[in-house]
Amino acid sequence: MNRFLIVGAGFSGAVLAYRLSQLIADCKIDVWEEKSHIAGNCYTERDENTQVMVHRYGPHIFNTDKKEIWDFVDQFIKLQPYTHKVKAISNRKVYSLPVNLKTINQFFNKTFSPAEAKKFLEQQGLRFNGKPRNFEEQALRLIGPDLYKAFFYGYTKKQWGCEPKELPAAIFKRLPVRFNYDDSYYDNPFVGIPEEGYTPFVKKLLGDKKITVELNRKFSSSSDLPLYNHIFFTGPIDSFFDYKFGKLGYRTVYFESFYADGDYQGTPVINYCDESVPYTRITEHKHFAPWETHDNTICFKEFSKETSKNDIPYYPKRLAADKELLRQYRTESEKLSNVSFLGRLATYRYMDMHHVIGEALNFSEKFMAAFRNGTKRPVFPNTESL
Ligand code: UDP
Repeated sequence: MNRFLIVGAGFSGAVLAYRLSQLIADCKIDVWEEKSHIAGNCYTERDENTQVMVHRYGPHIFNTDKKEIWDFVDQFIKLQPYTHKVKAISNRKVYSLPVNLKTINQFFNKTFSPAEAKKFLEQQGLRFNGKPRNFEEQALRLIGPDLYKAFFYGYTKKQWGCEPKELPAAIFKRLPVRFNYDDSYYDNPFVGIPEEGYTPFVKKLLGDKKITVELNRKFSSSSDLPLYNHIFFTGPIDSFFDYKFGKLGYRTVYFESFYADGDYQGTPVINYCDESVPYTRITEHKHFAPWETHDNTICFKEFSKETSKNDIPYYPKRLAADKELLRQYRTESEKLSNVSFLGRLATYRYMDMHHVIGEALNFSEKFMAAFRNGTKRPVFPNTESL
C-alpha cells in the first residue's frame, strides 16, 4: 500500500489528491490542512446575515485561456460565465479599469479614436527612454507618467509597501491596456464564478474514499517525513525548512467588513488609487453572483500590510533578496528524495487559480511517470531560473 501525504487542502493539494486517487489503485492519501477549513484562500461561504456568497480571503474570479482547465473545473461544479468589471477612483473621479479608450478619453478630456489614442500614449511612453526593467519603467513606457501616477503609483505603493520601481515589470503586465471600449478586466476568454462558490469544488476533489482530510493539522518536517512514501508540500517553502535561511517576503491583506441596505456601490470592485486613502479597494460580493438577488449587502474594505508571524501570506514580493533566499531553499529541497513542492506558496510565485490547477494537473502526470518507472521524482513543477 502506497502512503502519500499532501500538506495543504487548497487548490494545489486538492487537485493533486484527486489525480493521485484516480491514477493509483493501491494507495492511501492523507491531506493535512492547518486551517479549520478546506479550499485555502479560495474559501467561500454564505454570509449568515445576507446569504451572500462571500470570498473570505478576497475576491477570486476564475479566468483562463485554456478550455480544458475551464472544463476540468466545470465537471465538478457549475461555473457561471461572468464578466468582471472594475472601477477606479482617482482624485475624486470614477474611471474604468483596465486602462481602455474610455479611461484615456475621460482622463485627458479627449474624444480620441483607437488609432489616435494609441499614438497619443506612444508619445507619452516615449518620455521614458530605454528597456523597462521594473514595474514603474514598464508602466511609464506603456501608458506614460500621467495615467501611471493616477492609477498605479499610489495603489501599488499601498498594495506592495515599496516603491513600484522595486517590483518586477511582470506585475504591471498582469493588466491589459486597450485602445477600444472593452472594459472587462481580463483578457482571457473563459471567465466565470462557481454558482455555489469554490469550497464545493475542493470538497468534490477530495471526495474519494482513498483520501482522508484532517483539518487544524500542522506538519512538521522533522517528525512526519519518515511515515510516507512521498510527501507533497504546498505550504510556504521557507516554513518547511523552519526558516533556517530567513523569511521570504509576502504581503498580507486584511479586511474591514460592513453591511448596507440595498446596493452599496453598484459594482463588485472599486479600486482606490490615491495614496491618501488607506485601503486599496472595496469589494461588494453580491455583485460576483449577478444571478442571485439579495435585499441587503456585505462589503469589504481591503488593506495591505507586511506579513508578520501569524498573518496569512498572500502576495509573494519577490524582491532581489527574496529571490536569493528562494534559491537557497530550492537547492536544499533538491537534496530531498521523497518530497515535492508545488503551488503558490511552495514555489513562491504570484499564481492565479487557473495556473495552480494547470500546474497541479501537469505535475501529477510527471510524478506518476517517475513513480511508475522508479526514476527520480520531480521536486518542483517548474524549472524557473531565478
Ligand atoms: N494595480 C494598480 N492599480 C489598480 C489595479 C492594479 O496599481 O487600480 C497594480 C497593483 O500593483 C497590483 C497589480 O497592478 O498589484 C496587479 O493587479 P491585479 O488586479 O492583477 O491584482 P490582484 O487582483 O491579483 O490583487
